[in-house]
Amino acid sequence: MSLSQAITQGLAPDGGLYMPPILPSRFGHSTAGFGVRLIDRACEVLAPYFAGDPLEPHLQTMVDEAFTFDAPTRWLSDDTALLELFHGPTAAFKDFGARFLAAAMRRLAPPDAMTTVLVATSGDTGAAVASAFHNRTGFRVVILYPDGRVSPRQAHQLGAFGGNVHALRVAGTFDDCQRMVKGAFADPMLNARHTLVSANSISLGRLLPQMAYYAYAAHKCVAQDRGVPSFVVPTGNLGNAFACLLARESGVPIDRVAIATNANRALSQLISTGTYEPCPTVATLANAMDVGAPSNVERLLHRFSDTRGVVEADWVDDAEISAAITRTFHDHGVAICPHTACGVEVLRRMRANGRAATGTKWIVAATAHPAKFETIVEPLIGQTVALPDSLAQILNTPAHADLIASTLSALVARLEQFVGD
Ligand SMILES: *Cc1c(COP(=O)(O)O)cnc(C)c1O
Repeated sequence: MSLSQAITQGLAPDGGLYMPPILPSRFGHSTAGFGVRLIDRACEVLAPYFAGDPLEPHLQTMVDEAFTFDAPTRWLSDDTALLELFHGPTAAFKDFGARFLAAAMRRLAPPDAMTTVLVATSGDTGAAVASAFHNRTGFRVVILYPDGRVSPRQAHQLGAFGGNVHALRVAGTFDDCQRMVKGAFADPMLNARHTLVSANSISLGRLLPQMAYYAYAAHKCVAQDRGVPSFVVPTGNLGNAFACLLARESGVPIDRVAIATNANRALSQLISTGTYEPCPTVATLANAMDVGAPSNVERLLHRFSDTRGVVEADWVDDAEISAAITRTFHDHGVAICPHTACGVEVLRRMRANGRAATGTKWIVAATAHPAKFETIVEPLIGQTVALPDSLAQILNTPAHADLIASTLSALVARLEQFVGD
């Protein structure tokens, strides 16, 4: 199967996850460091994966279209930095993957049909996908989110796009939303009628482009004579951390990778004991990482059966998240979001117990802008966090989302209604 087909399908027909059959390991990276842009690194790291694919001739324009904002590294001290992944339109790292997926889908979708992108979201994914497909001819976006279970700002954001984006508030939980979406994808008639496509985080169209910012930051670190960096990646479904591991396997100069989770501990347990046991989801302050059964875990098991010496994982409870936010602001004057705080705390511990030697360079992925989680961050740091312009704009636009029952038939009825519109 070609990469294009895998991107179009999202999930394999048997329910499995697609993997590149061989990783284009150790391919030639340019050693040029200074002045190399994120988009150049993106093309370089993605090119071997697109070799021979129908999308290969479009890779450069897709990257140009998707990566319209930077991913700066902010050094807090000599040996510790934040990789700021929140300068996109919805202020979280998911903009990178969602925008690249949209650029790919635009080139892959049947030209005369209306394609419906259907997503269930517990917050950030829905906004990133909506923003990436907003006002694109030939696409309609339908977002399901659990009513009353996303933050007020997140809900507003989801309902404020309008146009070809339809936000549906589901009277139920995130699991209900996911069940409805899965039910829709499992119905071949419905798929054909609406040309349904998925945009969830298991899609290679979102996963692969996330390698770009690790390549960009790592090469920059080397070029600045700081040495080969290691990364701490706050993770939930393991999408972002897997992209970092994939970048490392693809020859990007990365030393070690540490996975940071919140109190959902399945990954820490897997790495420390070798046994994977999904757990019931626990609600935490870092809600975009509230995942009991990470959906990319099979990819990790398949590809990295022996992770010793390379990958480690640790988890952080809510009190420690709060403490890390407070401490980072106190020590460095920098506000961080609760997800980033998990990474910062894991690194603090690794430094304290010698697992990360002084002087070795560690970069923590900063996954969202703190202003997205102002109800948590502001009381801890004792001041307001200024909204980035793109977020402020969305929050100033009126929002609307229809309430629907948590059943597949309620979703189908809505889809029919959109066709009539
Ligand atoms: C989605 C999200 C995460 C978790 O990303 P995964 O790819 O599921 O590991 C972390 N932080 C923020 C802010 C997110 O939106």
